[in-house]
Amino acid sequence: MLSAFDNAMTLVERTAKHLDLSSKYPKHKIVERLRIPNKIIMFSSPLQKDNGEIEVYSSFRVQHSDVLGPYKGGTRFNKNVDLDEVKALALWMTLKTALVNIPFGGAKGGIAVDPHKLSVTELERLVRKYTSKLVSDIGPSVDIPAPDMGTGAREMAWIYDEYRKHREVAKGVVTGKPVEIGGSLGRLSATGKGVVYCMLEAVREMGLENYTVAIQGFGNVGSQAALDLWERGISIVAVGDVTGNIYNADGFNIEELVAYCKKKGGVKGFPDSVPLKSIIACDCDVLLPCAMENVIRGRNARHVKAKLIVEGANGPTTPRADSLLEERGVKVVPDILANAGGVIVSYYEWVQNREGFYWTEEDVEERLFNLLRQTYSRVSEYSAKNKISLRSSAYALALGKIAKAMAARGVQ
Ligand code: NAD
Repeated sequence: MLSAFDNAMTLVERTAKHLDLSSKYPKHKIVERLRIPNKIIMFSSPLQKDNGEIEVYSSFRVQHSDVLGPYKGGTRFNKNVDLDEVKALALWMTLKTALVNIPFGGAKGGIAVDPHKLSVTELERLVRKYTSKLVSDIGPSVDIPAPDMGTGAREMAWIYDEYRKHREVAKGVVTGKPVEIGGSLGRLSATGKGVVYCMLEAVREMGLENYTVAIQGFGNVGSQAALDLWERGISIVAVGDVTGNIYNADGFNIEELVAYCKKKGGVKGFPDSVPLKSIIACDCDVLLPCAMENVIRGRNARHVKAKLIVEGANGPTTPRADSLLEERGVKVVPDILANAGGVIVSYYEWVQNREGFYWTEEDVEERLFNLLRQTYSRVSEYSAKNKISLRSSAYALALGKIAKAMAARGVQ
C-alpha cells in the first residue's frame, strides 16, 4: 500500500496535469518543490518517567511550505507517528491554508508516543522538552503549532509557557490555547462545527432529508461535530473510537455519550447500544470519518452505504477508494475543505493575539461560517464547471494559488 505522503502527492501530480502547470510555469518546478518539504526537523525526546526510568521518543516537525506565509500546523501525539505521516499532514496543511485563503503555509509536528500511557506530569515534561528543542524553529512569524490528534489546549498552554521562557514575543507562537491565556473563543469547537457546516451545504445540494449520520472518532473533531448535529436534531446512529463501534437505530443522546466517554475513556458499552463491526460500512446516509488517515480503502469502499462522506479527519480516504466511491456516485467533501474550520479559527486566534483585542464567540463563528460558505461555493462551482469531484476541485483551487505564489516569489 502507498504511504499517506505518496497518496497525497498522487493527487497533487494529477491536479498539476489538470492545471497544466508544467506549461504555465515551465521554470518553477511546482510539483517537485511540493514533494520535498522546505525543512524536516527530526530529533529524540528522552523522558524521565515518574518511576525514574528513561524512555526515548522519536519527534518531528516538518515545515513543508511557507510560500503563502508562516508555517502552520498541528502537533500529533500517537504511537504510530512517523516521518511519512507528518510529511503528508504538513502537505495537506499547505493545500488547506491556500484553499481557504489564509496567510499561512503548511507544517506539522508530532511525537511517536501513546499519550494515554503517560501521567500528566510526564506529558508536561515531554511537551516542554519537545518545545525547547524547537525554540529556534518556531515563533509567531515563523512556524505556529496547534493541537492535533492526542493533544489539546493543555498541551498548547505548555508549549506557550515553555517558549515564553526563551523568547519575549510569544502569544501567537501557538494556537488552540486555553482562552484564559490568549486562546480564541470558538476554537475548541471550530473543526467539528466546520465539518457540520460543510455537511449541511452538501446535504442541501443533494436534497437529502431525514438522513442519519455515522461518526468515526469521538475526540475533539468527532465529539464537537456530534454535539452540533445533536443540537440541530440530526440523528447520529453510529459512533466509533479506539475502544469499539456502537449503534442505535433511534439515534444517540450525544450529551450523555460525551459524559460517558469522559468517565469510561471511550464509547464502548454505552447503554442502549449494540456493538458494530464496521463504522465505514454501517447503515447510514452520511459518514463522518473523524479519526485518522487511510480508513476508507479499496477493500471497504465498495461496502460504504452512505451517500455522502464528509472528511473530518485528514486523509481518511485512499486514492483507490476515492475512485471507487466516485464511480458509485458517493459524494465526498474532502478534508482540506471539510476540516479547515480548525486552522481558520487558529488564524483568528493568531490575529487576536497580534491585535491584543479579543472577539466574541459570535464574531468568531460568523467569520468562520462566512469563509467556509465562500470556500465551499468556490469549490462546488469549479467542480460543476469542470465536471470533476469536490476533492479534485479543492486541490485545483489550492494548487493554482500556490503555483502563482511560487512563480511570483521566484527561486533565487
Ligand atoms: P483526538 O485525539 O481528539 O481524537 C481522535 C479520535 O479518534 C479518538 O476518539 C480516538 O479514539 C479515535 N481513533 C483513533 N484511532 C482510531 C482507530 N484506529 N479507529 C477508530 N477510532 C480511532 O483527535 P482530533 O483532534 O479529533 O483529530 C482527529 C482527526 O481530525 C485527525 O485526522 C486530525 O488530523 C484531524 N484534524 C483535527 C483538527 C483539530 O482541530 N483538532 C483540525 C483539522 C483536522
